[in-house]
Amino acid sequence: MKIDVVSIFPGYLAPLRESLIGKAVSRGLIEVGVHDLRTWTSDVHRTVDDSPYGGGPGMLMRPEPWGLALDALAPLGGPQPRLVVPTPAGRPFTQALARELSAEPWLLFACGRYEGIDSRVAAYAADRMVVDEVSLGDYVLAGGEVAVLVMVEAIGRLLPGVLGNAASHEQDSFSDGLLEGPAYTRPEVWRGLPVPEVLLSGHHAGIARWRRDESLRRTAQRRPELLGAVSLDDADRAVLEQ
Ligand code: SAM
Repeated sequence: MKIDVVSIFPGYLAPLRESLIGKAVSRGLIEVGVHDLRTWTSDVHRTVDDSPYGGGPGMLMRPEPWGLALDALAPLGGPQPRLVVPTPAGRPFTQALARELSAEPWLLFACGRYEGIDSRVAAYAADRMVVDEVSLGDYVLAGGEVAVLVMVEAIGRLLPGVLGNAASHEQDSFSDGLLEGPAYTRPEVWRGLPVPEVLLSGHHAGIARWRRDESLRRTAQRRPELLGAVSLDDADRAVLEQ
């Protein structure tokens, strides 16, 4: 997968060279390009912002540098990326969206700063590429860079070969619509707290049932709204009715 990120703080994206994603980059599984939006300014101050029409506090990112950035990175008539624009006004970023985006060959992320990007940029881009305005959650960050780091990590770990064991993301929270239940490693008893006996039993079906039950209980307790989208059998319903 090819990933391009445009930001006025390219240094903020340095963690893309670290850890899991960094290794995927060095192994050639992901190609990352980080670009300074100010490359596409022409004034001496390399200005990227201006005051909003209609008044109001704060500054907005001007459309011109963004238009030039899009034209340079994805020239008209050539292959086009899917453009992801982080914004608190976007649709929520979920595991399902991470999975959908992980199937794309090329993603381009546009990091907003100040009060965001002039709305015509997304409209202009939508004429030639798929544009997703995506929110990380119901809070406001200072810029899109942190949101991009989150999204690239969630998307990148779903790509074939990035995780050592693909089964680990298949069992993650949200993969089956539920939160993952509690998990334990050695020692069997730690500070007086034992590991649930079933996990030591070697009985695979019993362990799978216990994990499903714990997932159901945890989801019901912490995120009950998720249960509506999960297909439940009689055994599941019995656990939830306890
Ligand atoms: N005025 C904007 C609003 O109220 O919707 C907030 C702009 S915010 C200060 C600056 C930038 O941070 C946004 O353009 C976006 O790139 C990023 N950002 C802030 N909160 C975010 C969130 N919850 N999800 C994704 N990106 C966010």
